[in-house]
Amino acid sequence: MRVAGAVINPQLAEQVRDSRWLDRTLDEIWDRYFGDTPRVNIVEIGYGGAWKTRLGSITLSDDHRTTYIRINSLLRLPEVPEYVTLVTVAHEMVHYAHGFGSPLPQRYKHPHRGGIVKRELIRRGMELEYRQYDHWVYNYWYDLYDEYLRQDTRPTSA
Ligand SMILES: [Zn+2]
Repeated sequence: MRVAGAVINPQLAEQVRDSRWLDRTLDEIWDRYFGDTPRVNIVEIGYGGAWKTRLGSITLSDDHRTTYIRINSLLRLPEVPEYVTLVTVAHEMVHYAHGFGSPLPQRYKHPHRGGIVKRELIRRGMELEYRQYDHWVYNYWYDLYDEYLRQDTRPTSA
C-alpha cells in the first residue's frame, strides 16, 4: 500500500495527466510533427508500469491491427515536466514511423542504433524539447524513481 506524500501524490497526478490527456497528446504530436506518417492501424496509448529503465514502449499485435504505446506511469506525476512526457510519446512515434511496432515498412535494422531517434526528433523540430528532456532525465529521473520506490515500500503504520 502506498502512502501519499508531499512529493508523490498519485491521485492528484491522475487528474493532471490522465489517459484522456495522453490520447489528446498523441493526436497533437502526430498532427504537429508527424504529418507525413500515415496512421495505418489502430494506435492505442496508455500508461504502463513504473519501469526503472524504460520510459515508453511500442508493440504491434500479431494481426498487425493494433499498435500499443505504453508510457511509464511515473510520467504522469506532476513533478515530471510535461516535455518529458511529450518527448517520450514522440520517441515512440519515431519508432512507429520507422516501422517498429507498426505495420509501416521497416526503415532501419535496429530501432535505436546510431542515434536515429534523437536525429529524427531534431529533424522534425523538437530539438529544444529533446534537449530539455535529455537534461531532465539525466539529472532527475533516478532520484524520482528512488523516491517513488521508498514511498511504495514504506509501511502504512509508520
Ligand atoms: Zn525507443
